[in-house]
Parts: sequence; structure tokens; C-alpha cells
Amino acid sequence: MSRVNTVLGAIPAEELGIVAVHEHIGYGMPGSELDTTWWKTPEQRYAETVPKLRKFHEYGGGTFVDVTGICNGRDVDYYKSLSAKTGVHIVACTGFVGGDTALPFFARASVEYLTEHFVHEITVGIGDTGSRAGVIKVGVSRGGRMTELDKRIYRAAARAARRTGVPILTHLAIDAENAIAIFHDEELPLDRVLFGHADDGVNAEKTRDTWIAEQGGRVGFDTFGYDTELEDPPFWARPRTERLDHFLRFIGQGHLDKALASADANCSPLGWPGVKGHTVNYIFEDLIPDLRAAGVDEATITTLFVDNPAAFLSIQA
Ligand SMILES: [Zn+2]
Repeated sequence: MSRVNTVLGAIPAEELGIVAVHEHIGYGMPGSELDTTWWKTPEQRYAETVPKLRKFHEYGGGTFVDVTGICNGRDVDYYKSLSAKTGVHIVACTGFVGGDTALPFFARASVEYLTEHFVHEITVGIGDTGSRAGVIKVGVSRGGRMTELDKRIYRAAARAARRTGVPILTHLAIDAENAIAIFHDEELPLDRVLFGHADDGVNAEKTRDTWIAEQGGRVGFDTFGYDTELEDPPFWARPRTERLDHFLRFIGQGHLDKALASADANCSPLGWPGVKGHTVNYIFEDLIPDLRAAGVDEATITTLFVDNPAAFLSIQA
């Protein structure tokens, strides 16, 4: 039976239910935890996060994948208590959001060192929490092209994915030619990789989403809800209907089996105010109703939010 690592232990993939595949319990730039301006008490963090996860559960949400990465505020003991109290399965990640969020200790490490570190977090556990990572995060640094450090991290992630069977999820799908070349070089099947943020307002134009799907990669439309219609939209926002149409076009072109969707929201942002009015529950409150209104049937919605994430997250023995 295929299994998935959650912070409270491995579970059968059939038990994941509806999955939010790219989300954050809390995300901040490295070092934000040292800035007293932004300190939050444990009470504040729980108060901001628990109602969102409870609501997610009430809506029928099963699993929340936290892709916060090393150095960006990942806090696995906290995730364990959130999961136990709310009943939401939480999957934690190893890896980095991008080379530019890796602190110097990791930025200077070799591919071999990074590989062993990722494998340890997947097979032994993250720190002393005993929780094993269920996915590997990698990403393209700001600037639009993969840096040498990004490439080292991608290569280490590919090796760790091959050794452990855990999949890779990317921050940004731009410069995919370089990413795919590394995955080919390391003989990692591309259906083990979810190329994320294909839909954001900055990168959608530059992302070769159908080409990635044709190569066998999975494609993440995972910034749903960062709409220009928000009160104070972030720079990566996009008009709601434009993103939805883009997504419908992609699945209409025969790529449903490669498509995943999520909201990339922060339950409790660290070191920045976050984006007001946007939560993981956009999936239930806006996205799924929008899909139904556009004529998408229930079987397709199940494929997108249950079957595709289960296939992606299942550890390949
Ligand atoms: Zn994210």
C-alpha cells in the first residue's frame, strides 16, 4: 500500500482526502525570527492558525502540505500539535524555498552534504521531532534564472527523491529547461516533480506549463486567491478570472492528470504582515465554486484535489 509521511507518522495515501498541496503554516524570510518587531507569542500563532485549520477540516479538507522549507520558519513540533488538535493531516517538507533563502551554512554545502541532509529528514526525522518529511522543496531564486546554488539544491533533491521515493515540489516553474536537465541527468522520472507557481501574476507568461506537462512533469496552479481584487493585493496577484481561465485551458488541453491546485496562503505569517483576506480556505469558498460554475464536474474536482495529490505524495518504494 502506498504511504505518505505526515508529521504524526506515515498514513495510507487513501486517507489523505482533499489535499491543499502547497500551503504554509507560517512563512518568513530567514532571520525574521530575530527581529523583535515581528515576534509573536505562541498564543498569537495558535489564535491565528487554529480557526483556519478547523474551518479547513469542517469544509472537508483532509491534508495540508506545508512547503515552508528549512530557514523559513518551519516548526515541526508546532505542526504536530496543530494536527493533533484539528484533525488535519499535515505534511512537512525538507529542502529550501530557493537558493536565496538558504542560510550561508547550507548555501556553502556540497551536493553530497545536502543530499544526506534531505535523506535524513525524510528517513530519520526533522531535528529531534521524530517527524519525517513527506516532500522536498526546491526553487528558483529571485532573478528568473536558476543560480548555481539552486542547481546544487535541485540535484541534491533529485538524488534524495530517488533514494527515498519522496517527491519534489518547486517554487516557480520558470527556467524549467535547466531543472528538467538536472532531473534527467539524475534519472528521476518527471512525474515525481510538481512544478509550482505556474499561475502567478509575475511568472505565468514565462512558464511553459504545457511543455512541462508534455515532458511528464506535474504542474501546480497553486497561487489561487492572490487576486488583484483583494483589498491590498501583493505584486504577484492576478485577476481572478484570468487565472481561472488559464487553469481551465490547461486541464482542457488534456493535462488534467498533471494538474494540481492550491492557495499558497500563510496561516500566520512571520516577519511580514501577510496578505489580508487570503487563506487556504479559498479552495473551498471560491475556487471549487468557480470550477463548478464553469461546468467542471465532481469527478474532475476529485481528480484534482484527491487523486492527483495522492499519486504525487505517495512514497515510491
Ligand atoms: Zn509557497
